[in-house]
Amino acid sequence: MTDLRMDELAAGLSTTRERLDAACAAAGRTTDEVDLVVVTKFHPVDDVIRLARLGVRDVGENRVQEAAAKVADLEAAEPDLAAAIRWNMVGNIQSNKATAVAGWADKVHSVHSVKVANGLDRGRARRAEERGDTDAAPLPVLLQLSLDADTSRGGVARKDLPALADHVAGLENLTLAGLMVVPPLEGEAAEHFADAAQVADEFRRAHPGAVEFSAGMSGDIEAAIAAGSTCVRVGTAIMGPRPVV
Ligand SMILES: *Cc1c(COP(=O)(O)O)cnc(C)c1O
Repeated sequence: MTDLRMDELAAGLSTTRERLDAACAAAGRTTDEVDLVVVTKFHPVDDVIRLARLGVRDVGENRVQEAAAKVADLEAAEPDLAAAIRWNMVGNIQSNKATAVAGWADKVHSVHSVKVANGLDRGRARRAEERGDTDAAPLPVLLQLSLDADTSRGGVARKDLPALADHVAGLENLTLAGLMVVPPLEGEAAEHFADAAQVADEFRRAHPGAVEFSAGMSGDIEAAIAAGSTCVRVGTAIMGPRPVV
């Protein structure tokens, strides 16, 4: 699969990695402190195959049905590449879909409620049972923080975060890995990231293992890394504009 699209994706990856390097250097950090998740929502499974051939391991999806179909298609078409891909769920999860998400996700960035956490926990147990995997690793999850408490855009309000974190920490089949944020549309991204970083610091005091801070998308990688992001989720800057559906 050497084609024009492959060249496009390679170029997008290399520009993005240069931005990551520069942002880390500017923040006095090293690039290996920041994971890159390539968000492939709305793009076909062939693009995931191309990305895998270009060495990408972390792929992100935000729509449950689309993701499940892509995971199955990749598994069928390219089992070896499929085994190397880590699927990151970054989008809003309805509680009745959470069990299904645990069937394919390798990490979930967007837990916002006890119901979603419980569904993921059950789904992870079911998956281990189906695979006859008696010592399956727990599913790493991040809690999505809603900074403006407009939870219609996903996330848990700041005041409800400690209780949700304690609940998730007590679930057998999940590991509390950290915090995720999508900055509100209003205001400066840099200020929102600084705000979220402060919440993340407090959060780590209560949950020392929850070291991940997932922040930053195509438009605000630099601001997120300056605020301490350990994971940027990049779509458009690598994949190009999302196809209109
Ligand atoms: C789509 C999406 C991204 C990627 O956004 P871009 O602006 O295309 O880089 C990151 N995070 C989440 C939660 C998304 O839904």
